[in-house]
Amino acid sequence: MSKGEKIKVKTPLVDIDGDEMTRIIWKMIKDKFIFPYLDIELAYYDLHVKKRDETDDKVTVEAAEAIKKYGVGVKCATITPNKDRVKEYTLKKEWPSPNATIRAALDGTVFRKPILVKNVSAAVSGWKRPIIIGRHAYGDVYKNKEFLVPGPGKAELMFTDAEGKVLFKEVIQEFKSGGGVIQGIHNTDKSIKSFAKACMEYALDQKVDLWFGAKDTISKTYDARFRTIFEETFAKEYKEKFEKAGIRFNYTLIDDTVARIMRSEGGMLWACKNYDGDVMSDMLGSAFGSLAMMTSVLVSPNGFIEYEAAHGTVQKHYYKHQKGEKTSTNSVACIFAWTGALRKRGEIDSTPKVVEFATKLEKAVLETIESGIMTGDLANLADPKPSKVYLTEEWMDAVKARFDKMMK
Ligand code: NAP
Ligand code: MG
Repeated sequence: MSKGEKIKVKTPLVDIDGDEMTRIIWKMIKDKFIFPYLDIELAYYDLHVKKRDETDDKVTVEAAEAIKKYGVGVKCATITPNKDRVKEYTLKKEWPSPNATIRAALDGTVFRKPILVKNVSAAVSGWKRPIIIGRHAYGDVYKNKEFLVPGPGKAELMFTDAEGKVLFKEVIQEFKSGGGVIQGIHNTDKSIKSFAKACMEYALDQKVDLWFGAKDTISKTYDARFRTIFEETFAKEYKEKFEKAGIRFNYTLIDDTVARIMRSEGGMLWACKNYDGDVMSDMLGSAFGSLAMMTSVLVSPNGFIEYEAAHGTVQKHYYKHQKGEKTSTNSVACIFAWTGALRKRGEIDSTPKVVEFATKLEKAVLETIESGIMTGDLANLADPKPSKVYLTEEWMDAVKARFDKMMK
């Protein structure tokens, strides 16, 4: 296809490259689906772990800045270095998680959404539509101070204001016989408000109801603060927008929310406090099938947005690939990261052809799987079982054949 015939993407898209097996898949996606059809400028940032090391991780910060500049990014999975990785790649140090760096720069909230196909059913038979999880990724038990109490004594909670005045001090427990444990946690109004706004923005974007549950009957100040900020933000800034979009916001107690989710058909955005989100996103991930059938979107309260797969770099498959062995790695979440970003780009730029391109590519992916052509992770879950397991590139070529026909 000549340049003139390709679909024009008006604004550059921020393309953040990554590591291992997903890096291989990333290149295949661009070569097979993006470059042949789109006249697109990619603002490319290479977050290969060696590149991060060479630039003292500046490239990660630049990538985050680029998302703020252009609005939309798509990110490949990246290694978060630990001691083994420092040795493996001879790195200067254990660089921080790129996702955490970008999340902090964008003040973003992560939403995970399963990708459904007809021949792989959810473990909960009633779930027919995706349940999107939004996890508050700041504070609570993830930023705690905790101590082992060695023996009898009292634990107190106190707060000193900026002028040095003690505003409150209260005994939380008197240990009378023997020790135990204590823990201090916190959150900030600013972070809770950003979280509430990101959830409301994303519910509008996805046109689904927003559910939020906490335990404010027991935690009458801490969890109640979350509830209050959600309800105030909704009343002041989102009530009318929700009414116009025909969607609803409802608050219920977290245990009630869980019970209702189980009985629901799905199709809502479930906003979770940090710990609830950690636990529930893994529960949903396995209940809907494979980690490779789950996308992840980072939404900032200012509307910047980054799309990625929910899984990691699929290290074990990469080692096989390096040895020249065949792999059957599922590319669906990576492809959906691209289509999600392109659809958003098209919506912002008012270029319906770009939106249509994304929709068609997703359709080609889903139809390919529903016709029985799938990788090993899905073959184990599918009903009926496919007669053969497709290899990584072989599967992508099957999608490409279908997609090319659709685009003719
Ligand atoms: P992982 O890459 O998600 O893989 C864990 C296992 O899940 C794989 O071994 C594979 O199981 C299965 N799996 C995941 N994605 C798959 C796919 N697309 N197709 C088929 N199977 C898939 O997690 P990890 O091995 O714990 O982490 C590897 C690296 O990724 C780490 O260095 C970590 O820091 C990084 N990571 C990055 C991100 C991110 O950038 N968003 C997120 C998580 C982890 P089988 O081996 O049984 O086939
Ligand atoms: Mg977890």
